[in-house]
Amino acid sequence: MMSGESIYKWYKPAVTSDSDIGVNAYWFIFCGNKMLVKVEKDKAVSIPFTKTAEELNILPVRKQYLGTLHDSPCFSVEVSSDTGICNGLLFQDLYTLYEVLAEDIFLLAGKAIQIVRWDQEHQYCSRCGSPTETMQNERAKICPKCGFFCFPRLSPAVITAVFKGDKILLAHNGNFQDNRYSLIAGFVEPGETLEECVQREIREEVGVEVKNIKYFGSQPWPFPNSLMIGFAAEYDKGEITADGVEITDAGWYDVNNLPQLPGKISIARQIIDWYINWRQYEQT
Ligand SMILES: [Zn+2]
Repeated sequence: MMSGESIYKWYKPAVTSDSDIGVNAYWFIFCGNKMLVKVEKDKAVSIPFTKTAEELNILPVRKQYLGTLHDSPCFSVEVSSDTGICNGLLFQDLYTLYEVLAEDIFLLAGKAIQIVRWDQEHQYCSRCGSPTETMQNERAKICPKCGFFCFPRLSPAVITAVFKGDKILLAHNGNFQDNRYSLIAGFVEPGETLEECVQREIREEVGVEVKNIKYFGSQPWPFPNSLMIGFAAEYDKGEITADGVEITDAGWYDVNNLPQLPGKISIARQIIDWYINWRQYEQT
């Protein structure tokens, strides 16, 4: 997470291992979007740490080596939906495990679920349809027939806090399940810079022009395969007009009159919290 520690403080990535046999390993085991976790008597939640996945009564459909976490090997595993599980273990939606799991485990789980999906979705070459082979020296698959390579797919998306004086632009997206207001976001299109994407998304969704775009920070967002790239920008011109398709309502908000905000897991909220701290500091 952007506000926390770097994942590389604890984690050393690798694609193949020569020393993972016979020692305990961290198992990131997924069934769809759900990850296998262990709930202790004191309600602490962790992931399995055993020598093999089979010890957990789990039969992996596919397995990938991820590298080491605190010098112990880690694997991502996909299991079929009819898999049985031991007592004390259960599958939980990864999204709900934020601030439940230890930060290092949660961060690596975000990588693991993307590797699992990539592995599952690239069993065949997308160019000629032949079965692919997993490369031994990098995270890639190759088609032995036509030579096509495929790497884990990432979809970059920008998310921007727009400021007009001491107010921030917040918008409600029709797809939100609740009455939450957030920042304007959207996927980067082929052929545009991140700054052009920021301007286009804000123009399309709320009809406003922005200037002085500044990078804020980024966050892997594995729900699914996104990389969120956060910006702050200054209002330039135009009246807010919600597009009525994605955005159903938008407005300028003061720190003393904020609507329901997104959860703390998101970079949107981290940028908004930065705004809140800045305004509260100015007002004291
Ligand atoms: Zn091919």
